[in-house]
Amino acid sequence: VATSQDQEKSRKEHRVVIVGAGFAGFHAARELSRLAGATAEIVVINSTDYFLYLPLMPQVAGGLVEPRHICASLPHRLRSTRFVLGTVRYVDPRQKVVSWAGPEGASGQVPYDRLILTAGSVNKLLPIPGIAQYAHGFRSIAEAIYLRDQITRQLELAAVAADADERQARCTFVVVGAGYTGTEVAAQGQLLTTRLARKMPGLAGQQIRWMLLDTAPRLLPELAPPLSRTADRVLRRRGVQVRTGQSVAEALDGYVQLSTGEKVATRSLIWCVGVRAVPLVSGLDLDTNRGRLVVDEFMAVPGAPGIYACGDCAAVPDLTRPGQICGMTAQHAQRQGKQVARNVAASLGTGRARPYKHHDEGFVVDLGGLAAAANPLNVPLSGPPANAVTRGYHLVAMSGNRMRVLADWTLNAITPPEATSFGVISAESVPLDPDNPRA
Ligand SMILES: Cc1cc2nc3c(=O)[nH]c(=O)nc-3n(C[C@H](O)[C@H](O)[C@H](O)COP(=O)(O)OP(=O)(O)OC[C@H]3O[C@@H](n4cnc5c(N)ncnc54)[C@H](O)[C@@H]3O)c2cc1C
Repeated sequence: VATSQDQEKSRKEHRVVIVGAGFAGFHAARELSRLAGATAEIVVINSTDYFLYLPLMPQVAGGLVEPRHICASLPHRLRSTRFVLGTVRYVDPRQKVVSWAGPEGASGQVPYDRLILTAGSVNKLLPIPGIAQYAHGFRSIAEAIYLRDQITRQLELAAVAADADERQARCTFVVVGAGYTGTEVAAQGQLLTTRLARKMPGLAGQQIRWMLLDTAPRLLPELAPPLSRTADRVLRRRGVQVRTGQSVAEALDGYVQLSTGEKVATRSLIWCVGVRAVPLVSGLDLDTNRGRLVVDEFMAVPGAPGIYACGDCAAVPDLTRPGQICGMTAQHAQRQGKQVARNVAASLGTGRARPYKHHDEGFVVDLGGLAAAANPLNVPLSGPPANAVTRGYHLVAMSGNRMRVLADWTLNAITPPEATSFGVISAESVPLDPDNPRA
C-alpha cells in the first residue's frame, strides 16, 4: 500500500484523506475530486464498501425495499479517488497520519496533508437496566435485516404457539424513541405485521400490538408540530399505541417494565432513542461538544492544522440559530460534505472558503402505504401529496439504485410481502452495545 500510495502522491501535490463515506464523506469526496482532483490525491477510507442511504432503512425493516437497494457501491461511485476498505483506529494529528485496519487482518497507515473526518454516529445507549441485553438498535443495515427477520419469525412462532400469553408476547413490538427513526419503524413495522398476519390462519383474531414510547410530550419532537400531529393521527388510526411522556424503566427476559410501572410482555424491543458521535472522535484528544468534535463555521478543527470534520461526528455551528449546533441529519451532513470539500480545496489554492450556513428546507417522514408527513419549504402536507413528495425526495437524494427502489415500491403496492426470515443475522451479531455483547 505504502509503495503505490507514495507513487501516486509523488504525481500529485497533496493528499487529502477522508474518513467515512456516508452522507458527508461521500459528497465531500465527489466535490473534492471535481475541484482539486488534478492536484490532490483523494483517499477515502470506509468500514464498508457501500454508502448506506439510512433514511430508507425503516422501509427495509418493513419489507418494502430490499437491503442492497439502499447501498451504493463506493469503489464504483468514487472511481476518481483511492478507496480503502478499512476502519480507522487512530489519527495522529502531530505526525499527520491515519492508521486503519482492514476486514481480513490487513492494516496500514496513510499520511495526509488534509484530513476530513466524516465517520458519523452509532446507537446511543442510556443507563437503563437490561437495555444492552434485550434491546436492538437501528443504525446499520444488519440491524434492519435482523428486525425484518425478527418480526416475521415472531409472527410465525406466535401462529403455532399453544399458549395464549406466549402468542400475545410474540405479537407485541415495543419501539422506544419517537424521533423520525422510531416513528417510521413503528409505522412500517405495523403495516408489515398486518400484511403478514393476513396470510397466517393461526393468527386469525389475534391482536398485534405495536407500542411507540417517548419521554417527550409529542411524536417527532425535533420536527415541526404539524408533522407530529399527522404522524400521531396516522399511527393511532392504525392501532399503534402511542405513549408520550413514558419510556422503558427496565428490560427483562420476556418483558419490559415501563416508567409508569406497567409490565409489557414482548420478545421485540427496538431501540431508536438516537445516536452519538462515533467513539473514534472521543479518542482524539481534541475538544468535543456533546460528544461531537468541535469545529468552526468553516468546519476546521481548532488547534489541529489540516483537520476538518462534519456530519454527525462534528458539532458544526448552526449560523441560522446562533449559539446552537446543527442537528444530526442527512440534509446537513450532505451539504456540509460539499462545503467542506470547497473549503479544503480553497486551502489547497482552488476557490474561496465559506462558512457553512443552511436554512432548514423541511423534512419528510414516510408512514407507509399512502401516508406520510412532510413540510417541504415549510408547507405542511399529509396523505398522498406528502407521500409523493417524500418518495420523490428520496429518489432524488439517493446516490444510485433509484430504479431498483422504484421497482420495490411498485411491486410491494401490488403484491403481498413474502413471510421469509433468513436468520443469517443472529441477535448476538447485532448487539446494541458492542462493549457488552449479550444480546
Ligand atoms: C434509521 C435512520 C433514518 C434516518 N432518516 C433520516 C431522514 O429521513 N432524514 C435525515 O435528514 N436524516 C435521517 N437520518 C440521519 C442521517 O442518516 C444522518 O444524520 C447522516 O447519515 C449523517 O451523515 P454522516 O456522513 O455524518 O454519517 P454516516 O452517513 O453514518 O456515514 C458515516 C460513514 O463512516 C463510516 N465509518 C464509521 N466509522 C468509521 C471508521 N472508524 N473508519 C472508517 N469509516 C468509518 C461508516 O461506515 C459510514 O459509511 C436517519 C438516521 C437513521 C439511523
